[in-house]
Amino acid sequence: TSFAHFGFDENLMKAVRKAGYEKPTPIQAQGIPVALSGRDIIGIAKTGSGKTAAFLWPLFVHIMDQKELEPGDGPIGLICAPTRELSQQIYQEAKKFGKIYNINVVCAYGGGNMWEQCKACEEGAEIIVCTPGRLIDLVKKKATKLNRVTYMVFDEADRMFDMGFEPQVRSIANHVRPDRQGSATFKKRIERLARDILRDPIRVLQ
Ligand code: AMP
Repeated sequence: TSFAHFGFDENLMKAVRKAGYEKPTPIQAQGIPVALSGRDIIGIAKTGSGKTAAFLWPLFVHIMDQKELEPGDGPIGLICAPTRELSQQIYQEAKKFGKIYNINVVCAYGGGNMWEQCKACEEGAEIIVCTPGRLIDLVKKKATKLNRVTYMVFDEADRMFDMGFEPQVRSIANHVRPDRQGSATFKKRIERLARDILRDPIRVLQ
């Protein structure tokens, strides 16, 4: 598979080339066409597999497909990660590619400055990268709302589960519209959770 198979526009292709990527990794080759088709995905892939780009690039396509973007109306893409470090890594990657489309990204994690995160959310962003507990706090404070979310990712869902975030993950999924698109990286233990959150998911293995 080459990047040409994905039908990305020239802007995204240019950014991919600029990043120095020659060809899609296995998880990208398998996952991206499925994500672009709008299906839910259970992705099983290690760190270093290129999984972040595998869920980010289709999200950019999804956002750019929506012609009338109204700023300040809550994010379209919601990415939850278990830790501050991981959410910051995803945020950096999202910003790197998001800037080609002027897509704004905010990052909100537990332990970070609540006031600054509230302000960033209120300024508006198409993508929010967050830890589950902090996202719920921000929604409670009405700093952001989830009614515009149509693309949802739980990265390292297995770790979120191990850290006891299951109630938060369920609460977030329940907040999000029923026509959401979802993705989760996971182990067998949380299959049930994934089944409850996702709709008829396709399994993509590295
Ligand atoms: P991840 O598994 O998402 O943590 O990504 C691991 C590293 O692979 C990151 O530094 C990415 O920038 C890089 N990467 C992502 N996609 C590709 C690709 N198609 N070719 C080479 N490197 C990539």
